[in-house]
Amino acid sequence: MPLDIGILSDDDPAQVLHNKYGHLADRELLDALIHEAFPGRIAVSSSFGTESAVLLHEIAQVAPDTPVLFLDTGMLFAQTIQYERKLREHLGLRDVRVIRPDPDYIEAYDPDRALNHRDPDACCHMRKVLPMEHALEPFDAWITGRKRAHGGGRAQLPVIEHDGKHFKINPMAAWSADRVQAAFTEHDLPRHPLEELGYTSVGCYPCTGLPTTIGDMRSGRWSGQDKTECGIHKAPWAGQGI
Ligand code: SF4
Repeated sequence: MPLDIGILSDDDPAQVLHNKYGHLADRELLDALIHEAFPGRIAVSSSFGTESAVLLHEIAQVAPDTPVLFLDTGMLFAQTIQYERKLREHLGLRDVRVIRPDPDYIEAYDPDRALNHRDPDACCHMRKVLPMEHALEPFDAWITGRKRAHGGGRAQLPVIEHDGKHFKINPMAAWSADRVQAAFTEHDLPRHPLEELGYTSVGCYPCTGLPTTIGDMRSGRWSGQDKTECGIHKAPWAGQGI
């Protein structure tokens, strides 16, 4: 079945990749990109959030030694840290790399650990964007678990992007919430511990709450603010961060 590629302009470098691999999807796509297109030069980013187990399970089936970049901002729930260890073990992931912000930056710009209140974009930049940029330097491509079903700026997410530095692969872009839940059941995947308390999307604890809008799983993130994304994901195809 042809890949549902989403919006992609003709002059996008990702088009070349799409021309070669656009007929593939899911595990076949991951296999081709990990082993053929970018051997040793592709990583996966994971928040170890409520949906993360599904993509990580697919990765574990195809190439469990693929580097998994886990960003520990220092502001994560203890349950997320526990879940990362549990999933790593359960799935047999062999190369989870814990990425952390520069402690010198924290001391210089957020000594009272309240930057998230004063300037959440600056806080995300220091705790997420800069460490992830650094962690991605050895790689040409990275795989994310973002989906169009998340809505907002992700509603038109392509499966293959190029952000100016890296190819970004979003193999689950077209997955519905129902398909994600079915995968949890089919593969008997462990759930994030906060899910049973009603959390549908989990990030840093100061900026995560219960969903405020039915059907919008990310509505509990930065609730009450204009902010909807941390800034890690830029979308050249949309001209804005997503
Ligand atoms: Fe800071 Fe909140 Fe962004 Fe985490 S999500 S880095 S606490 S602003």
